[in-house]
Amino acid sequence: VKKSGAGGYHYYAAGLNENARRRLALETDLRHALGRGEFELHFQPQADMQTGRLTGAEALLRWNHSERGLVMPGDFIPLLEESELILDVGAWVLEQACLTQRRWWREYGQDLVVSVNLSARQLDDPLLVDRVRAILDRTDVDPHRVELEITESSLVHNPEEAAATLEALKRLGLSLAVDDFGTGYSSLSYFRRFPVDTLKIDKAFVSELTRDPDTAGIVRAIIAMAGSLHCHIVAEGVETLGQLRMLRQYGCHWMQGYFLSRPLSVDTFDDLVRDGHRF
Ligand code: C2E
Ligand code: CA
Ligand code: CA
Ligand code: CA
Repeated sequence: VKKSGAGGYHYYAAGLNENARRRLALETDLRHALGRGEFELHFQPQADMQTGRLTGAEALLRWNHSERGLVMPGDFIPLLEESELILDVGAWVLEQACLTQRRWWREYGQDLVVSVNLSARQLDDPLLVDRVRAILDRTDVDPHRVELEITESSLVHNPEEAAATLEALKRLGLSLAVDDFGTGYSSLSYFRRFPVDTLKIDKAFVSELTRDPDTAGIVRAIIAMAGSLHCHIVAEGVETLGQLRMLRQYGCHWMQGYFLSRPLSVDTFDDLVRDGHRF
C-alpha cells in the first residue's frame, strides 16, 4: 500500500471489505435510480378475513438494477433513509400508488385501498404535508382510499410532532395505519392520542400465533382492544390456514400474507382486480 499525503485514502479504500465496497457502489447507483426510472412498485393483496374479498394492496418498492436485477427494499431503503433521497423516492412511491389506485377504479370499476409505507425521515420532513397535498391534487385520487403506513417506532421517537403531522394528514382525508404494531413496546392506549384508523399486527406475532399460547393471548388482546378503540385491524405475514382461522376467530378484519399472495407486479395484480378476485 502506498504511503503518501493522499495515501491514507488509498490504504483505506484498498482495505475496504467486500461488503463496504458493495454498499458504496449501491449508494452511487441509488442516486441515479429515480432519474433512470429503475424503481417499480409491486402490490401485495389485502383481503377481508370473513369474505375473502380483495380489499386493496400494500405498495412495496423494488429497484430494478441494471446489473443486479431486482433489489429488495431491505437492501436499499436504509441507504435511502440516510440521506434526503428517501424524500424524493417516497414522493414518487406515493404518486405512483395514487395513480394506480385511480386506474383500478377507472379501468375496472374497483374501489380498492392502496397502502403506502412512510419512513420516519419523511414524517420529520417539514414539507411532508404540502408534498402529499400536491400529489393528492395532481392524481385526483380519493384520499379516503389511500392509507399511509407509519411504523410504531417512528411515532414513538417524537410523539408530539408526529401527532401534529398525523392530524394534518388526517385533515387531507387520508387514512392512517400503524405498521409493525406490537414491536415498539408502546401500549395500545398510547395510540389514542394519534388519529390512527388501522393497526397492522406485525408478522412476528402472526408467525408465532399457532405455536405459542402466550403470543396467541397477546394477539387476541390487541384485536379486542383495537376493536374498542374503533380501529381497523390488518394482520400481516399470514402464511397458513391455521393462522387465518385463529385471526378470524379473534375478530381480525383484513389480512395480508403469502397464504393469499406474494407481492405482485402491476400487470399480475391487475388480473386480480379485473376479475374481482375472491380468495
Ligand atoms: P413492511 O412494511 O412490514 O412490509 C411487509 C414485508 O413483509 C414486505 O417485504 C412483504 O413482501 C413481506 N411479506 C408479506 N407477506 C409475508 C409473509 O406472509 N411472510 C413473510 N415472511 N413476509 C411477508 P418487502 O417488500 O421486502 O419490504 C420490506 C420492508 O421495506 C417493508 O416492511 C417496509 O418497511 C420497507 N418498504 C417497502 N417499500 C417501501 C416504500 O415504498 N417506502 C418505505 N419507506 N419503506 C418501504
Ligand atoms: Ca408496511
Ligand atoms: Ca409491516
Ligand atoms: Ca416489518
